[in-house]
Amino acid sequence: MTDTPTNEALFTRAKQVMPGGVNSPVRSFRSVGGTPYFVDTAEGPWVWDVEGRRYLDYVMSYGPCILGHANPSIVDAVSVAAGRGTSYGAPTVREVEMAEEMCRRVPGMEMLRMVSSGTEAAMSAVRLARGFTGRDTIVKFAGNYHGHSDNLLAAGGSGIANQGLSGCDGVPDGAVADTVVAPYNEIPELDETIAAVAVEPVAANMGLVPPREGFLRELRQACDDVGAVLLFDEVITGFRLARGGATEWFGVQPDVWCFGKVIGGGLPVGAYGSSREIMASVAPLGGVYQGGTLSGNPLATAAGLSALEQLDAAAYVTLERLATRLADGLSRVFAEAGVPVVVPRVGSLLGIFFTDVAPMNFDQAQVAADNGLYRIFFHGMLERGIALAPGPYEMIFVSTVHTDELIDQTIAAAAEVAPSLR
Ligand SMILES: *Cc1c(COP(=O)(O)O)cnc(C)c1O
Repeated sequence: MTDTPTNEALFTRAKQVMPGGVNSPVRSFRSVGGTPYFVDTAEGPWVWDVEGRRYLDYVMSYGPCILGHANPSIVDAVSVAAGRGTSYGAPTVREVEMAEEMCRRVPGMEMLRMVSSGTEAAMSAVRLARGFTGRDTIVKFAGNYHGHSDNLLAAGGSGIANQGLSGCDGVPDGAVADTVVAPYNEIPELDETIAAVAVEPVAANMGLVPPREGFLRELRQACDDVGAVLLFDEVITGFRLARGGATEWFGVQPDVWCFGKVIGGGLPVGAYGSSREIMASVAPLGGVYQGGTLSGNPLATAAGLSALEQLDAAAYVTLERLATRLADGLSRVFAEAGVPVVVPRVGSLLGIFFTDVAPMNFDQAQVAADNGLYRIFFHGMLERGIALAPGPYEMIFVSTVHTDELIDQTIAAAAEVAPSLR
């Protein structure tokens, strides 16, 4: 290397040509302060920045890198695929295999359509629900994030909350006029005008807020009572909580699913799926139009299939063991330091709030997240070579290649940082 730019110099340059210097707002460090590290390379649980500093990574691309960075099988699969052409505009064998594998895993899902992001999946799933039911109104929960399409941005959790924005400029009132926002963990009043109720089965964009006992089952019943579509946004929980995602984990079946993150193995992929009956509304079978030039892209399906192949029963045991070890350790060291903490965990999904009582909804999550303590924790850990997400509303993502030893080192670093949060 002839010319090694610093993070600071790159950030200055980046801010000249990209808003906030980034291509997705949370990466800008705005809610924790400071200069983002610019990643040069990554392998396994590690990322290296352009200055050669190594970090133990708990960002993991916000979920996709569940098998660690540069997973050798995924790298091979993508390399081979790239040599055979990067996009065709015609169907491929791997798209069929990937759809078959996803439908095998998720109880009740019979068909799906692949797209290129979680945003597209949720946006299209809502269109499908409206097209299928002939109704307009969507119910969503405050603090649940379903991507950045106009009609789902109302009270959207982390991406917006991290910026301190209550809503979003540029979204006309008309676009959210048919969106009703309800508090998470409470069953909303529904009637026969409701097309769909969209929910994150485990809320993972307002910090981690698990569904209370019975919430998803009661929501299923409430939707059935009025003929509304129940839409599980499994973009984070899908293929992470279990082989069959939240549907398997909770034993509650929605009508429509959306996926993203894990199923791309780090490449841009999303999907939405349902029963054959409901999916018959999607073009070319039905009148709900949705398409995509790069949908089912050969590199993305190569990466995704390889990821799914590796996510066997043993992988989920490993993920949950590591997350449990980390959750227990973090709870212990902050308690010992006299710092109020709750570390909510569902399977391998893990969050942290510096507060006494686990939040049940967005209002409570905001009070807990906005007390300024996460910022101190974040920078204390970063100084010790441990990269957490630069915002209090995100998850702590473990991968299958985080070891017990690395988890213990993380807990030891947190023990050093803990007194500064008192
Ligand atoms: C990340 C996320 C999305 C949006 O996915 P993108 O790929 O970022 O567009 C949607 N829903 C949930 C639950 C998410 O966590």
